[in-house]
Amino acid sequence: MKALDELTFDNRFARLGDALSTHVLPEPIAEPRLVVASPAAMALLDLDPAVAETPVFAELFSGHKLWAEAEPRAMVYSGHQFGVYNPQLGDGRGLLLGEVYNEAGEHWDLHLKGAGQTPYSRMGDGRAVLRSSIREFLASEALQALGIPTTRALCVIGSSTPVWREKQERAAMLLRLSPSHVRFGHFEYFYYTKRPEQQKALGEYVLAMHFPECLEQPEPYLAMFREVVERNAELIAKWQAYGFCHGVMNTDNMSILGITFDFGPFAFLDDFDAHFICNHSDDQGRYSFSNQVPIGQWNLSALAQALTPFISVEALRETLGLYFPLYQAHYLDLMRRRLGLTTGEDDDQTLVENLLQLMQNAGVDYSLFFRRLGDHAPELAVTRLRDDFVDIKGFDAWAERYCARAARDGDNDQARRRIRMHAVNPLYILRNYLAQKAIDAAESGDYAEVRRLHAVLSDPFTEQPGMERYAERPPEWGKHLEISCSS
Ligand code: AMP
Ligand code: MG
Repeated sequence: MKALDELTFDNRFARLGDALSTHVLPEPIAEPRLVVASPAAMALLDLDPAVAETPVFAELFSGHKLWAEAEPRAMVYSGHQFGVYNPQLGDGRGLLLGEVYNEAGEHWDLHLKGAGQTPYSRMGDGRAVLRSSIREFLASEALQALGIPTTRALCVIGSSTPVWREKQERAAMLLRLSPSHVRFGHFEYFYYTKRPEQQKALGEYVLAMHFPECLEQPEPYLAMFREVVERNAELIAKWQAYGFCHGVMNTDNMSILGITFDFGPFAFLDDFDAHFICNHSDDQGRYSFSNQVPIGQWNLSALAQALTPFISVEALRETLGLYFPLYQAHYLDLMRRRLGLTTGEDDDQTLVENLLQLMQNAGVDYSLFFRRLGDHAPELAVTRLRDDFVDIKGFDAWAERYCARAARDGDNDQARRRIRMHAVNPLYILRNYLAQKAIDAAESGDYAEVRRLHAVLSDPFTEQPGMERYAERPPEWGKHLEISCSS
């Protein structure tokens, strides 16, 4: 265990120089107070969870104090937003404080979100409000617990500093941990500004830090791109299998590591709806739930374009072609597991598609369906779930096929099936209305609900006594919350 002042910094990105980032000091927020901290994220830095309660913790993560070895930098990048190229983005309200190594030798970027204005803030105030900081905190730690690759959140610090959005709110800061903050948009920035030297410096940094095995390959950049394609195919398969809607899949929000990155108006599906749009500024539904799959490929092509100085167009095209088959294989594998199947059959894809269509028609709760399917042996489980559907004949036909399929599967012992299914089908997910209730309490100064919700979501597969209300379907009001993008 380390004390807060014992972190080991080695700020390699800062050393790449001013072409890639700019030195900016955090602007403190007033009367900082701990809203919530993640003991699991603190463990990544070898920190004792008890230090979260010390005054210096809140001071460090609200811009009042800085480690002597920290070198706060705002990174420059660009990217495609809703399909349109924006030539200059960059950290407008977040700073890379430095790069820290833990005792296991793992590398973590410390990024302070909401740290004030930077050269890339344009018209923005550089701040993050309490509500969006809590949402990012809960989502990153919840995704992690579900086994979905993501950036992590160490803590949220609240304040009395006013900020204006649609109404007056309070500023907060979130400390984000990630092995890297390099986005697709970083590569796009140096490509479109025609600066091959800087792009090379960025590429070499990313290869050395995050893809060292690719350096052994005859074409390191191609090997890296292939890895990025593979990781994104797997990530998006997980989003689709677990009903996670990102909401703003702009290329500046896509991590080079293929992890969930930048949380805005995200949502987990309540009722299954393939066409669900969680971002109410997304009029065209570009980032609707089902569109996340082709958008993943679109974003990878944008990255491919930016990598043309390093890799031949033919090789890029061929590698991009891997995305969809890989996505499908991962997705089908996850859905089989969610259905309790341990083997594969040719018709499984259809079995999944038919089920989703029936769920779509009836507005069945996506997460609870799979959880309940594992509660009992297939025949009894489908009988209990039947009333949730509208097309009963259709469901019965599906159920008959499912039960026969389950019977042909290797392992039919119900005790084992239940354990196997409950280990992949969460009981607790971060429903928008649960986050909203916790936010409402936090905005009036009561952080107990945020902390409780975080604790429940940290162990989503295990039934927790007394926490039944976190496993319920949302009330009607909770299904139609509009989450503002102005975070
Ligand atoms: P996002 O939608 O959060 O991915 O942000 C897109 C761009 O807008 C990034 O360059 C952000 O740094 C910038 N940005 C978002 N919110 C603010 C803000 N409150 N102040 C300054 N820049 C911001
Ligand atoms: Mg962003």
